[in-house]
Amino acid sequence: MLDKATLVAWDKRYLWHPFTQMQDWLTEDVVIIERGEGCYLIDTAGNRYIDGTASMWTNVHGHNHPELNTALKAQLDKIAHTTLLGYSNIPAIQLAQKLVEITPAGLNKVFYSDNGSTAVEIALKMAYQYWQHKGKPQRKLFIHFDNAYHGDTIGAMSVGGIDSFHTTFDSLLFKGIRVSAPEMYRSRRDADTSGNKAAVKTHWLHAVEAALSENAGQVAGIILEPLIQGAGGMLIAPKGFLKALAVLAKRWETLLIVDEVMTGFGRTGKMWACEHENVTPDILCTAKGLAAGYLPLAATLTTDTLYNAFLGEYRDLKTFFHGHTFTGNPLACAVALENIAIFERENLLSELQPTIEHFRNRLQDFYALPHVSDVRVCGLAAGVELMKTPDTHTPYPFEEKMGIRVCKEALARGAMLRPLVNTIVLMPPLQITISALDNLLDIVYTSIETVTKK
Ligand code: PLP
Repeated sequence: MLDKATLVAWDKRYLWHPFTQMQDWLTEDVVIIERGEGCYLIDTAGNRYIDGTASMWTNVHGHNHPELNTALKAQLDKIAHTTLLGYSNIPAIQLAQKLVEITPAGLNKVFYSDNGSTAVEIALKMAYQYWQHKGKPQRKLFIHFDNAYHGDTIGAMSVGGIDSFHTTFDSLLFKGIRVSAPEMYRSRRDADTSGNKAAVKTHWLHAVEAALSENAGQVAGIILEPLIQGAGGMLIAPKGFLKALAVLAKRWETLLIVDEVMTGFGRTGKMWACEHENVTPDILCTAKGLAAGYLPLAATLTTDTLYNAFLGEYRDLKTFFHGHTFTGNPLACAVALENIAIFERENLLSELQPTIEHFRNRLQDFYALPHVSDVRVCGLAAGVELMKTPDTHTPYPFEEKMGIRVCKEALARGAMLRPLVNTIVLMPPLQITISALDNLLDIVYTSIETVTKK
């Protein structure tokens, strides 16, 4: 095997890392992960780190899981890849049946792809084409939210709302209707909404309804991250907002698209965030945890109504002309099936509840730190926001890299994290033990304390 010095040199010479200022990267040490064990990552020098963000919010049952490994190897001995274009394969069929069974009732059709962004692109294209088949081609616009993140492809960015990621590409993006998001924390300081959660919800629902009314008959769908906006900063929506949006979508005869790429597979404490508010969307996107964080796999699920609108004679060109080369990859589907089987065998969602409770309780202690301005928790996902002066809502300047500095400190103490600017994200694998979770929280607490004191 190559030694660490060579690996670092080659990394810096040949790799371009995602969402990374490479000028900084070139001057810094590089942690190279070689192995994983449960919720721990192990680098080339044998150092162990708790995987505090589940390897980009994907890992469910831990790394190097014996049963997932076995399922993957068993499939590998049969076939690694074969196409769904014109043919089918066994794991893809079985997984589609299982996904229909475990998603909200009414979502009966599964369209595979490889990642969250493509799951969203598919949702948008499906919705757009659906209205053409229904004889309403003027329904072209998507309502989306401030701080939304749906991925990095052009369509997904078009319905995004994070200016630092998306503004550069403005002229490439299609026009939609961007609505302010009902984000509780900043809304507390918003004179219009006076901190009342019900008022916040009503305020923003009015904004959505106004958008629907001003663009009556032109809205193809409303897309959102249900319950919690992830990359926007772990921002939690008021209770009932999702349900109320579903009602609005129905009333205005438009489609509700929920992006469960981050929230799906137990992250919020239920299998799907939608279940917290008994919502069946018209389209649901899932990726990240679908194949347990092992392999790239995504699915866009929809209803019979939507699917049926695409049926017709071959010559009618009602076909959904979309598909990726690795769509329905058998290896990924086999792992996803085992992922779901583990949820069922181990009764994971009920087992998870005390861990979530413990996580929520312990995170309240973070308010004792003077620069912690807000702690937002949803299931086993949390954002701890740091500010220079919380009382006056004064953020740390971007260039101070406070979030990055805290995460570096945490790394030295044995936890691997990735911040969202000045929000420290905590999203460990669902199977983390209470003692490892305590260890992670202790490390994060001390790291914030140490770095913000300097
Ligand atoms: N949607 C949501 C809610 C996400 O959090 C992400 C990624 O973080 C995406 C879509 C994009 O997924 P991917 O990075 O797999 O394309």
